[in-house]
Amino acid sequence: MNAPDKTPAGAGIASIEHWIAGRLVPGRSGRRAEVFNPAVGRVTGQVALANAGEVAQAVAAAQAAFPAWADTPPIRRARVMFKFLELLNRHRDELARAITAEHGKVFTDAQGEVTRGIDIVEFACGIPQLLKGDYTDQVSTGIDNWTMRQPLGVVAGVTPFNFPVMVPMWMYPVALAAGNSFILKPSPLDPTPSIMMAELLKEAGLPDGVFNVVQGDKDAVDALLEHPDVKAISFVGSTPIAQKIYETGAKHGKRVQALGGAKNHMVVMPDADMDQAVDALIGSAFGSAGERCMAISVGILVGNAADQIMAKLKDRTESLKVKNGVELDAEMGPIVSKVAHERITGYIGQGQTEGAKLVVDGRKFQGAKAGAGCDNGFWMGGTLFDNVTPDMKIYKEEIFGPVLGCVRAKDLKEAVDLINAHEFGNGVSLFTRDGNTAREFSRRVQVGMVGINVPIPVPMAWHGFGGWKKSLFGDMHAYGEEGVRFYTKQKSIMQRWPESIGKGAEFVMPTAK
Ligand code: NAD
Repeated sequence: MNAPDKTPAGAGIASIEHWIAGRLVPGRSGRRAEVFNPAVGRVTGQVALANAGEVAQAVAAAQAAFPAWADTPPIRRARVMFKFLELLNRHRDELARAITAEHGKVFTDAQGEVTRGIDIVEFACGIPQLLKGDYTDQVSTGIDNWTMRQPLGVVAGVTPFNFPVMVPMWMYPVALAAGNSFILKPSPLDPTPSIMMAELLKEAGLPDGVFNVVQGDKDAVDALLEHPDVKAISFVGSTPIAQKIYETGAKHGKRVQALGGAKNHMVVMPDADMDQAVDALIGSAFGSAGERCMAISVGILVGNAADQIMAKLKDRTESLKVKNGVELDAEMGPIVSKVAHERITGYIGQGQTEGAKLVVDGRKFQGAKAGAGCDNGFWMGGTLFDNVTPDMKIYKEEIFGPVLGCVRAKDLKEAVDLINAHEFGNGVSLFTRDGNTAREFSRRVQVGMVGINVPIPVPMAWHGFGGWKKSLFGDMHAYGEEGVRFYTKQKSIMQRWPESIGKGAEFVMPTAK
């Protein structure tokens, strides 16, 4: 793979451009955003921000490429995916390094992200089987009826900063394999992997124009939302923007799936394996600095579970290995941006004001401890609150940082009622040794993805991903069979051949004869 465009835009600063019709296209809008390495707090890139004209150029390229790609037999489209898969496996670590450099998550976690993205490419390789239609012979005498699924046309994906490889891969492998052309609008915070993936798709044999990247912000997204040739939008990001995308996209006649924010709870029952529960809480609250939509941000400690684990949680939070993500033993890297850092520290202050017990204060962590050159990075340690109550802002709102709030509950019912009353319903987890408790919990909880003794239950590629309530706007989940349905429309065909038409016109509603 060629390195992404590293045209110097200043000393050691890369310029990150659009990818349209199979090549890099320099941004012409005159607007750019700075891209940081959050570990060191230094600008490493300047990303182009597309205007409506540049978006229209990408849509035109995608529209031009669509008919031939849609007509390409699914098995040949699958072969491109197989080749892409091979290239991804070969370049897995380069992608992971690019993620760490711009997002900050630790390298081993970034490798995991790429691997979970690759899972979806593997799923998309099975597209001929997934596109098989239904056929009924002889629905009436001499008449057959079948259904088939056809691609929509130009579809777009708007993605968040927290998984710059995996979340786009929830979308484009399925969309492309199903015969659509695709426009990716990545987060401007970590745009480089988008260009690396575009290059690999080209090398895999994807025809020019079938996959395009427009870098940008709100302007680019608004242009995609309003463009009549964009038939569907997949969005992943925060809830207010997800809702806006859903409503505006629908107003413009588009199919929309918009995945939003989260506040994921983990219930720890008094009978749980407490060592496992502590590991699970620490890993899922502080992994990727809590910047995962499936991160656990609330621990509901039932009965005497709090007495059993609070001291351990404190120790483990204090001893987290918070380091530059390039270090292989790092457990948690920096926060993605200064703005996010300020938002998170603001929430910690708010939690104190609201009366929660601040057990470990991550604001005290100094960047210099994270490694050489990290003094000016966007660092904080893990924060642990106890005695959080449901009326507090730190309970109600998504913090999206390394802050774990613990709530006490007297029994399972109180825990489930709390979770069900929350506005988000993305992921949830229960730790217990009791099968019936687990069964009841899974059935009663109003959340889209449930883990039983599993802290981050991200469904596998063929099961589909999506939350409930304000964590998902739209009907269909990402990837899996719902992903295939989202990116295709059903056509039903009823056929009869001339021998049986000889009877002449029929004026009554056709029924089976
Ligand atoms: P964000 O909502 O700020 O941005 C997401 C995308 O929308 C980006 O591409 C951004 O450029 C664009 N955008 C931002 N403001 C916009 C506007 N006003 N109009 C149109 N587009 C706009 O989210 P983020 O900070 O990048 O990501 C973190 C959020 O994503 C968290 O809320 C997290 O829970 C959520 N997330 C959800 C899932 C899920 O599956 N439900 C997965 C990952 C992340």
